[in-house]
Amino acid sequence: MRPAEALLSDLGISDPCDIDLRAIAHCVGVEVIFRNLAGCEAQIVGVKDRAIVFVSEDARHTRKRFSTGHELGHWHHHRGQSFVCRKEDIGRPVDNRSNNAERVADAYAADLILPPFMLRPRIALANLGSLELISEIATQFAASLTATALRFVKMTEQPVILMAHNLAGRKWQWASVAAGQLRVRDDIDSRSCAFSAAKAGHIQSARREPAHYWFDRRHIEQFDLKVQSVQTIEGELLTLIGIPDKRLVELYG
Ligand SMILES: [Zn+2]
Repeated sequence: MRPAEALLSDLGISDPCDIDLRAIAHCVGVEVIFRNLAGCEAQIVGVKDRAIVFVSEDARHTRKRFSTGHELGHWHHHRGQSFVCRKEDIGRPVDNRSNNAERVADAYAADLILPPFMLRPRIALANLGSLELISEIATQFAASLTATALRFVKMTEQPVILMAHNLAGRKWQWASVAAGQLRVRDDIDSRSCAFSAAKAGHIQSARREPAHYWFDRRHIEQFDLKVQSVQTIEGELLTLIGIPDKRLVELYG
């Protein structure tokens, strides 16, 4: 069990609605204060076994929770140091610099807000998953849709790929373990339902699409994919791609 999960377990918390971060922070000697912050999103000032965490009051509820969890991650892993965390330091889901202190704090936040031991039974039943189900889980855990979807992809045993395009056009993708080394194209094919989701602003129904909309591989058009997109409230286009026929992974993964 990872440190944040161990803390929840020690506190006897087993239901997502009981993950009250200010109360949990209090149990580890940390006071959390929401206030106006200039130049950063959150910060922690610690002395001996006590600390104060300041979190920007302007952020969305789910973001404030993640920032609080992030600072508690610094408290657990980097006690004795103070951190001033900018917006770009917190919640970068697929940054490869995994040893960086900010990513360590992010991982702690994700474990605290979306603890694997609570998610596992919900995800085990999900097959290829759907954005409706992920959205439902996100609401239960008061987490963002993006963080929850990424958690789903990291934990599921099914072959799926999650990709995101943000407002600046930058993108990332994450394949589940069962999807092996598969990577989809960076651009969105204009024939795909994901293309129109950019304007829709709501969860689209999942659709079957031929695999060559997403992969530049010979003869891959014999396979279909399950594709579903949503534009998140943060303005990011998220697309969940399920691979119903596992032979696609065997042949191309
Ligand atoms: Zn930080």
